[in-house]
Amino acid sequence: MASHSPVPRVHRVDCVVVGAGVVGAMITQQLARRGVRVVLIDRAPGIGGGCSYANAAIVAPHHVTPLATPALLREAPIQMLRRPPAVRMQPDPSILSWAGSLMASATPRRAHLAGERLSRLAAESTRLHCLLADEGLSPTLRKTGAIDVYLRSPRRRRADLLSFERLQAIEPALAPVAAGAHHTEEWTLESRSFVKAMLDDASRRGADVFFGMSAEQLLTEHGRVVGVAAEGTTLLADHVILAAGLGSATLAAQVGLNLPLRGGRGYVIDVAAGDHAPAMPVRIKEHRVVVTPLADRVRVCGSIEFGDERRPMDPGRAEALKTVAARVLPGLERAAVIDRWAGERPCTPDGVPVIGRSKAVENLSVAAGHGMWGMVLAPVTARMITEAIVDDVEPAEDAWLSPDRYDGRPARHHRALSPT
Ligand SMILES: Cc1cc2nc3c(=O)[nH]c(=O)nc-3n(C[C@H](O)[C@H](O)[C@H](O)COP(=O)(O)OP(=O)(O)OC[C@H]3O[C@@H](n4cnc5c(N)ncnc54)[C@H](O)[C@@H]3O)c2cc1C
Repeated sequence: MASHSPVPRVHRVDCVVVGAGVVGAMITQQLARRGVRVVLIDRAPGIGGGCSYANAAIVAPHHVTPLATPALLREAPIQMLRRPPAVRMQPDPSILSWAGSLMASATPRRAHLAGERLSRLAAESTRLHCLLADEGLSPTLRKTGAIDVYLRSPRRRRADLLSFERLQAIEPALAPVAAGAHHTEEWTLESRSFVKAMLDDASRRGADVFFGMSAEQLLTEHGRVVGVAAEGTTLLADHVILAAGLGSATLAAQVGLNLPLRGGRGYVIDVAAGDHAPAMPVRIKEHRVVVTPLADRVRVCGSIEFGDERRPMDPGRAEALKTVAARVLPGLERAAVIDRWAGERPCTPDGVPVIGRSKAVENLSVAAGHGMWGMVLAPVTARMITEAIVDDVEPAEDAWLSPDRYDGRPARHHRALSPT
């Protein structure tokens, strides 16, 4: 699949994709499928250098909502006080101003509009996920359904809430809870195997994939992007696509494009599979903790923390999630831990992703900032990017996702294409 051998010092292709997370891998596969000569580079030594290393592995189209909602404003203070806190915010000035923009975006009208649009994208993306699986290209996609549980009875009465007895008949691994709901239209998909499947298919179709190669500089000529300088190699291309998660912001800034991405840190703790594994994902709603059964492990994850992305991971935060999960799935208590990890969800201050071709910087597209929903939205993102580049199709209704919406301006100091 991926190559570690050196690329020629100057390489000319149609497109360069930067970043081999779920989003970049999916874009590369789609471009290769359309006959585009594409090179994908990632600075990490292998798959999983960013947020796609691990996640809750859930494709749940009905749960896809923007990050900025009135509910977030209402619930964040309560979530911050929970033990363990499900939401955290470091009192760092740069984070506080970013959080201010997030809050300003959380008006009912904006949240409603963004929610409707994201729901449509998520539904379409899920359909594309299923098509990939039907073609045999996404071997780990499984329709499992999922259960939401409440430790205390929710104050609002809801028609979909089930008693513990009904829930336990659906998921026998559950310990007593106050109530819950069963959702049938949900799938699980492990992100690293998904990335590998997309890269394998892209490589079969002629794409070149290079790990251990960092994009250092976007190259420009007369104000338009003409390639990427990457560790002694010049990749010349008609189009460059930034799908580098949080790393997209630094590269975009080189050409004057402002992408105010910040990391929303989530924690993951994986335990070995066994009799304790539930048959389907279980979400513990009060704590925002998710337990997902995967082929060889049970994954527990949760929390969203904003702060300096360079701060070290706190393993105690991962353990605390396992303790919460064991209240609902007691078998997890003694299960052997096989991995602990923290990842930065690439988040935007208006809570919706950045997907599309820049009009301010020619030959540059961005696919980043997918926050909590990168895996669900990867196929539809890839289709939008591919259609814009290959077919020159950009529906007007996609403008709300534009990379130029944060005051993107062409840079005054581009680095010109250096002679090689
Ligand atoms: C705890 C947790 C649970 C989650 N659960 C879900 C879920 O259930 N469903 C869902 O849909 N989403 C979920 N998400 C979100 C999802 O994982 C992310 O939205 C998604 O992984 C983002 O993918 P990406 O490809 O945009 O970025 P990334 O996966 O971060 O990939 C970016 C890549 O770019 C590379 N890169 C960066 N800079 C450079 C550079 N200069 N040169 C070369 N390469 C570079 C990095 O090495 C990395 O590999 C969850 C996230 C977390 C943390």
